[in-house]
Amino acid sequence: MITTYFSQLNIPISPEKLEKLERYYDLLIKKNKVMNLTTITDHDEFMRKHILDSLAVVRYFSFDGVEKVMDLGTGGGFPGIPLKIFFPETEFTLVDSVNKKLRFIEEAARELGLDKISFVHGRAEDLAHDDLYREKYDVLVSRAVANLSTLTELSLGFIKQGGLFLSYKGVTGEEELKEAAKAINTMGGEPGRLEKYDLPGGDDQRSLIFIKKTKKTPKTYPRKAGVPNKKPL
Ligand code: SAH
Repeated sequence: MITTYFSQLNIPISPEKLEKLERYYDLLIKKNKVMNLTTITDHDEFMRKHILDSLAVVRYFSFDGVEKVMDLGTGGGFPGIPLKIFFPETEFTLVDSVNKKLRFIEEAARELGLDKISFVHGRAEDLAHDDLYREKYDVLVSRAVANLSTLTELSLGFIKQGGLFLSYKGVTGEEELKEAAKAINTMGGEPGRLEKYDLPGGDDQRSLIFIKKTKKTPKTYPRKAGVPNKKPL
């Protein structure tokens, strides 16, 4: 049972929030028949590997009082949608380079009655140079988008000075953090703590990497679309 997992992780959840998470599962599985949104369709596995994994962060960091959050490369809405359901007061911007995924999430968010949430279609390499988005976010979250060096280049331009980049990783977290040292420094960041945990009900190792944005990102970064991936800093 999903509620057991939540209590194992010591995450309090209201019946209203739980119901919204369940409804999101239903909507996503229905759409998954015509669009590739997730390979995980079993209810229990979905709840563990998508929902709980998206929310495990709340044990280490609270979004209460955080004004603006971006979820970069949200795909089927993770971790953005579960976090939005959990923190209704915070404004969320979900970004992806595939428009049809975003249009589905937008429709689902409307059906769930979520507000203070917006959807931006584009590539991080371009959007991060747009004044509308550059250095405008308090926190940026991202899961399963790229290796940490590449992801740091894609992400830090969106974050305000004094803000935070929170990267969801698996077992390779520690190694990726070491390899990303140069990218973090170049982009105006500073490595922070790394938290390791196991998802309940299986041996899935996870890590959460905290990177502080301490200085402004130089104007030349991120580089052109595709370059951060091909030639990581
Ligand atoms: N965060 C989701 C999806 C991961 S798949 C999850 O954890 O389940 C990676 C997603 O990132 C894809 O939907 C892809 O379209 C998007 N993506 C990859 N590179 C991107 C870029 N440069 N800019 C914006 N979105 C990107």
